[in-house]
Amino acid sequence: MNAIQTAEGAISDLDTILTLPRGLSAMSIANEARDAALSFINESGYWGKAQLALWLMGPYEHLTRHAAAGRARQGSSRKPVMLRDIDARVVDRVIAAAREEVLATLTRLSDAHLATEFVYGTLASGAVMRCEDARHAVGWVPTGEPRRLADHVLSLFAVDLLCRPEDYELELFVCPVCEMVSFDAGARERGVCFHHSSIVTIGEPCTVPDLPEGA
Ligand SMILES: [Zn+2]
Repeated sequence: MNAIQTAEGAISDLDTILTLPRGLSAMSIANEARDAALSFINESGYWGKAQLALWLMGPYEHLTRHAAAGRARQGSSRKPVMLRDIDARVVDRVIAAAREEVLATLTRLSDAHLATEFVYGTLASGAVMRCEDARHAVGWVPTGEPRRLADHVLSLFAVDLLCRPEDYELELFVCPVCEMVSFDAGARERGVCFHHSSIVTIGEPCTVPDLPEGA
């Protein structure tokens, strides 16, 4: 049993298990959480208020709906995140700060001990909740409880990490050149993401000039 499984075990005994709707597996939630989290971290550098609202009302709400349904059955509810009354410049600053905080956290998650600490934190704060799918496979869902944007995003990474810690230990990579986050053991070995890999053409000499960064 690894450290993360121990962390799960210690806290999961206290949790109410939520059962996912039939046809939805615990792993499909982890996939969805990873996609939504990566889309925030890799695209939000170009986002404003409208794009953030779309992410919150789209992929994020879609993932937190399971916990919301559980709360509704227990007679409690949570206010949805409202951006309407917030100044666009404030939103820009919130996005930038959240992105920076999430990146700083991700760079630590390839260390198994720090990943365990991170998982303990998200479980203890109620940001993620244990669930079970129709086949009794244990999984995790984000609860939507955190107030801060960085914690919303980190709760999605936590859901994914709890399902497959080895991907974080062996493949998670934050490119030091462009800050792109990927699950790519090869990029980790090279030390840069695929954007910076040079393409070797055999035969004809290359006549295309180097493209500028990000092109
Ligand atoms: Zn890169």
